[in-house]
Amino acid sequence: MIEAGKADTSHPQGLASSDAQTDNQALGTDSLTIPHIRIAIATGAASAHDIAEQCYRTIHERDEDHEGREPGVHAFLSLARERALAQAARIDALAAAGDTLPVLAGVPVGIKDALTVTGLPATAGSRVLEHYIAQYTATSVQRLEEAGAVTLGKLNCDEFAMGSSNENSAYGPTRNPHALDHVPGGSSGGSAAAVAAGMAVATLGTDTGGSIRQPASFCGVVGLLPTYGRVSRYGLIAFASSLDRVGPFTNSVRDAATVLGVLAGHDPLDATSSHEPVPDYAAQLAEEHGVNGLRIGVPTEYFAAGLDPEVREAVERAIDGLREAGAEIREISLPHTAFAVPAYYLIATAEASSNLARFDGVRYGLRAPHATTLAGMYRESRDAGFGAEVKRRILLGTYALSAGYYDAFYKKAQQVRRLLAQDFQAAFANEVDAIVTPVAPTPAFKLGEKSDDPLAMYLADIYTVTASLAGICGLSVPGGFSKAGLPIGVQVLGKHFDEATLFRVGEAIERG
Ligand code: GLN
Repeated sequence: MIEAGKADTSHPQGLASSDAQTDNQALGTDSLTIPHIRIAIATGAASAHDIAEQCYRTIHERDEDHEGREPGVHAFLSLARERALAQAARIDALAAAGDTLPVLAGVPVGIKDALTVTGLPATAGSRVLEHYIAQYTATSVQRLEEAGAVTLGKLNCDEFAMGSSNENSAYGPTRNPHALDHVPGGSSGGSAAAVAAGMAVATLGTDTGGSIRQPASFCGVVGLLPTYGRVSRYGLIAFASSLDRVGPFTNSVRDAATVLGVLAGHDPLDATSSHEPVPDYAAQLAEEHGVNGLRIGVPTEYFAAGLDPEVREAVERAIDGLREAGAEIREISLPHTAFAVPAYYLIATAEASSNLARFDGVRYGLRAPHATTLAGMYRESRDAGFGAEVKRRILLGTYALSAGYYDAFYKKAQQVRRLLAQDFQAAFANEVDAIVTPVAPTPAFKLGEKSDDPLAMYLADIYTVTASLAGICGLSVPGGFSKAGLPIGVQVLGKHFDEATLFRVGEAIERG
């Protein structure tokens, strides 16, 4: 296991040590951050090669199954060792030549399998794409790699990012590194677990209705939902295009700021990506930290019945800490919150039913071999390729869009979406600079506990789908543990393109 010290004064020599440290060291606040890597490489204490190899050892130890031991975490679906070591060698050559190192030099990263990387698999957690090898690289991944990151491999997720527990992956679920019989959350569960287990220092996930924030909360790491348009979606296998976003998982808020600085910015390959200038988030955070004078909203609707008392306590503790740090805490109302889950599940499924039409056995992926007619081939390919949840959503979405139901369901949902966005607009315009809420109603649940009850699973998205529908940014920051030892995240929401404020508030929560 990679040894991680405290902040910038760590002993990076530990990185080069070949004998594995105890597993638990990589869990919790002592986990490795981008500055650790930077110092290790810049001082020659460890090479990018050593760091990548160390991650692969950890992956072997913790991610894979070993006979007679607890099951592995199963965060990675595929590894790209040769490619990663070639990337690491380029960084080591730069360091040896005394050249300036790019901002993510040697940082080992993992990529959700819903994002493409040329030459690597991209299954999106689905059988349909089992043998698909990507022909192009997602802009987000390309930007990480151009900044010196080393891509270790691809990470498990719910099929087409539909789910909240990773149990909808066609390749078996990822397990929560803090409690292996619990889910890591979803859909980016592999991305959250990989960081939590010290198998990567940063990972990319995607968030359509909570898929970065909720697994970050369940696994005790930082997860960022950037503003819609902030990070390019090019190379993301689409679930619901008006909601899908790409964002990072990291071990610290500062690392999230660093990674966003690399990811953000206009991309001509994504028509919805914004021209909004990209601030130097990390530098700004170093300069302007603390929450003194910030107005922080606490929406009553997010603390109603159904919230687990331990989660409530953790979020209230974070709010108290912010108050003590000089923030002004204001109770606010976001009155349309209760309608967010139904609106989300109509809009997301409608868009999915259209996006997933391309998986037909012709253009991409799996083709049923024995069909005798074209229609039969489509039917059998899709039947064999898609799992139950994906089929359920295609059916729901097709229904919501069909003639006669469109006005009653899809159009209504769009109207509700507008009302939700207006709730946030009003709060940010008049009352507060940021909003603090729970991420999920409970800590991580057990594998199998909710998999037979899709409705219960959907309802648990109540605190995350609101920001998704409104297009605003959000951050999940670790806020402590339940009595059973499960992490609990705190959500910070901010106005469009105001990630800088999220980082300030997030860092204050992180400090406790
Ligand atoms: N849990 C939500 C869903 O199942 C969100 C998924 C996501 O953000 N990709 O749709």
